[in-house]
Amino acid sequence: KKYQVGKVKKVLTTCPHCATGCQYYLVVKDNEIVDVEPANGPSNKGLLCVKGRFGSFHFVHSPERLKYPLIKNHETGEFERATWDEALDLIAAKFTEIKKKYGSDALAGFACSRSPNEDCYMLQKMVRCAFGTNNVDNCARVCHSATVAGLAMTLGSGAMTNPISDITNDVDVIMLVGSNPEEAHPVIGMQIRQAVERGTRLIVVDPRDIGLSRQADIHLKLKPGTNVAFANGMMNVIIHEGLADEEFIRTRTEGFEELKKIVEEYTPERVAEICHIDADHLREAALMYAKAKKAPIIYCLGVTEHSTGTEGVMSMSNMAMLVGKLGRSGCGVNPLRGQNNVQGACDMGALPGDLPGYQKVTNPEVIAKFEKAWGVELNKKPGVHATDVFPAAIRKEIRGLFIFGEDPVVTDADQHHIRKALESLDFLVLSDLFMTETAQYADVILPGTSYAEKEGTFSNTERRVQRVRKAVTLEGEMRLDTDIFIDLMNRMGYPQAQLTSEEIMDEIASLTPSFAGISHRRLDKGESIQWPCPDKKHPGTPILHVGKFSRGLGWFYPAEYVPSAELPDEEYPFIMMTGRILYHYNTRAMTGKTPGLMEKEGHSFIEMNTEDAVRLGIENGEKVKVTSRRGTLITTARVGDKVSPKETWMPFHFPDGNANILTNAALDKYARIPEYKVCAVKVEKLPAE
Ligand code: SF4
Repeated sequence: KKYQVGKVKKVLTTCPHCATGCQYYLVVKDNEIVDVEPANGPSNKGLLCVKGRFGSFHFVHSPERLKYPLIKNHETGEFERATWDEALDLIAAKFTEIKKKYGSDALAGFACSRSPNEDCYMLQKMVRCAFGTNNVDNCARVCHSATVAGLAMTLGSGAMTNPISDITNDVDVIMLVGSNPEEAHPVIGMQIRQAVERGTRLIVVDPRDIGLSRQADIHLKLKPGTNVAFANGMMNVIIHEGLADEEFIRTRTEGFEELKKIVEEYTPERVAEICHIDADHLREAALMYAKAKKAPIIYCLGVTEHSTGTEGVMSMSNMAMLVGKLGRSGCGVNPLRGQNNVQGACDMGALPGDLPGYQKVTNPEVIAKFEKAWGVELNKKPGVHATDVFPAAIRKEIRGLFIFGEDPVVTDADQHHIRKALESLDFLVLSDLFMTETAQYADVILPGTSYAEKEGTFSNTERRVQRVRKAVTLEGEMRLDTDIFIDLMNRMGYPQAQLTSEEIMDEIASLTPSFAGISHRRLDKGESIQWPCPDKKHPGTPILHVGKFSRGLGWFYPAEYVPSAELPDEEYPFIMMTGRILYHYNTRAMTGKTPGLMEKEGHSFIEMNTEDAVRLGIENGEKVKVTSRRGTLITTARVGDKVSPKETWMPFHFPDGNANILTNAALDKYARIPEYKVCAVKVEKLPAE
């Protein structure tokens, strides 16, 4: 896993960008990472994308790295260098004071979905044992929390059902819904493209033209926010054509009759009108999907990031159960999780209602088990979701916040609202690699370590737990994040022994049935394990729900189509969607430090349809002003036919016009995910200077 040739050391590890979980070697010379070489990992088979290949090491050695703790001088507003003792003593004193004055639930902590499982586990342990609250969450709240909730409710397990290789090899049809893998999960995108070249048929359901829609047999370019209507229309056709799998429905599911009643109203003609698609294309897609022997649904944030995101996810389960395409090879419902370890952050219990392994804080047996193991009385009240922490801060219900490796000013919907919430806090602590936009609001900033400086594991989108290995030791006072949490726990009165990453994974395994058989030792021997892995001899579980759903019977969720929270009107006549581009990952905290990637794409833009641009007198490449009810920005117009008339699309990576100045923080009722994919904006040509 680590070997040396002359002065060059090669360290096998896992890519820190998206949740594909590609394996590669970091090539290290004189304690500096100089290159990346692909490895033949189970999910990447020797492939890498531009982010993994070129964007994975410049940031590690960036001169902009935070190297020592900083405390804000409130008189000057400047950050001043501090010792670790000064910084940690101050945090412990302030958080303890808030806890004494306002109660444990006035504190909260966010875990970092970029960081290893072991870090996320210790962060949530710190929040639960030392802070005394379940107010802990991670950035899945703003990307796939609807998946975690929706798949758990319908199938019993909130995770991808089948492995990547299983759904891209030898399948008859792939149905890709609200997912642009060639930009967001490029190595999965490559595998889908290869499958299509080998003869797999492709249905793309997406409001935009994406690279893969050009390869598709059918592209349903539906109106943003209409996924539930689309799925109900598909099921209407499947039932009327007699293609429902009656045996599967009878033996493996419940709730079908109620669903059938609802989808009866979603005739192809009605759905065509709601979704702005062709009724015959919908029929064709339904027949193609239902008749195929092997046909996975692969979906992403185009399904989840809506005020009805959880219902969108449950609609994916409904479609797959209707045709019996679950619990077997080449099928399933497959969310492509976003960040490298966002699956793991959820698995590790960085969720307000769940302890590690999705064990509920409301279950007395679970609580008793953790109280015994951790030697502390735990708070039994489910915590506040991350997206609700901000309004709670403005109401002064939450006063102290520890943010580990997140930058919500950039990533969360309605940026002004987030800034106001951060200003309202009594005490904000940030642990990060760089001085982020959110860090400007902190009282104390702690310098953490990157994936290349620590040991641990990431869980990729297919539930595969893979090793992260230390490659370099950098100069500076940065500390392992787990050591920071342990130190703080002790200073706040919870006695926590020092633990290595390997020992932390052993503790996780001892308390988490789905991880019971997982250890660094097994992974270092070359085993590749997908949870659930209930014991040390178990090989892991590539396909979920074989023979029986995790919840027993699969549940058909009867969902009616409900329009998005904010629709275009006379004043704001365009729908705006947001998304990612190939060259950057989320806040660009890592990819933004790679000069080549910044050269490829370094600035914000808005895509708009030619018809609208002509009407407004806007030319391709011109600067435009974009305004929503929440803010205004200046960006560059990209004119073409990728989006439909009256629709626009923006990436959110760039500070010069961050789309989240405009987005709407309307929340899904189950998962509290914001509606990033639909808000109303106006676009104006800027007057000539
Ligand atoms: Fe990294 Fe994702 Fe690219 Fe693989 S596909 S190299 S995991 S960014």
